[in-house]
Amino acid sequence: MPDRPNQRTGSKRKVTPEPHHAKHSAGRVVVISGPSGVGKSSICKQLVNRLRDCYLSVSVTTRSKGLNEINGRDYRFVSKQEFARQRDASGLLEYAEVFGNLYGTPKADVEQALKAGKTVILEIDVEGAKQIKAKYPDAKMIFILPPSQRELWQRMNLRAREDAGTAERRLDSADDEIAAAWQYYNHMVINDDLQQAVAEAAQIIQTNQRR
Ligand code: ADP
Ligand code: 5GP
Repeated sequence: MPDRPNQRTGSKRKVTPEPHHAKHSAGRVVVISGPSGVGKSSICKQLVNRLRDCYLSVSVTTRSKGLNEINGRDYRFVSKQEFARQRDASGLLEYAEVFGNLYGTPKADVEQALKAGKTVILEIDVEGAKQIKAKYPDAKMIFILPPSQRELWQRMNLRAREDAGTAERRLDSADDEIAAAWQYYNHMVINDDLQQAVAEAAQIIQTNQRR
């Protein structure tokens, strides 16, 4: 890289290129994953209210909107064509196919929030989390666990967002996801009592120590 004149002194100073991940890292990235129905959305919604300068990323997805969901708040619900357009224009920081639908993190929003020094929370699956970890090695990786399989089943039913077949497929994959999680996540939080889980996640995010 050529030397650039220092604007204040006029002297030539060597400009050290920043590593890729440091480019936008005024703030920090937090990844939250876990099996379907474990309480990720509930935890994330409370975290943004509790933490200062926190941005909860709103993903784009080709999945159809659930009854209680709002376009632009829970997700940006888009067609497959629109998803492909954003992906091909490098508009997504990461993306993955989950349970037959595509999900991705809008890049510009995240980079802007990081530049503003915010903590950016990404509620994404394990595949997407791997991609984020490669781009932001300092990302905090938190995996949410259910207190028991039975409780997970009850929460899926409580949420009543999808038909029985879809809910069953999602529950079937929970064991695989939990097994994979031990490799990639350095923080595990059991969501038994919601307030306690939120407090634990907040504590992990606020602790500066990098593990
Ligand atoms: P996810 O985003 O992981 O799919 P949700 O946040 O949508 O999960 O939660 C699934 C259901 O479980 C919702 O009805 C939610 O209110 C409920 N829930 C979340 N956390 C708890 C908890 N600690 N105890 C009991 N119910 C919970
Ligand atoms: P749901 O359909 O239950 O809202 O989400 C299904 C799965 O997709 C969850 O594991 C959720 O974390 C994941 N997911 C949501 N948004 C994204 C995203 O932007 N990228 C990736 N890779 N996964 C996502």
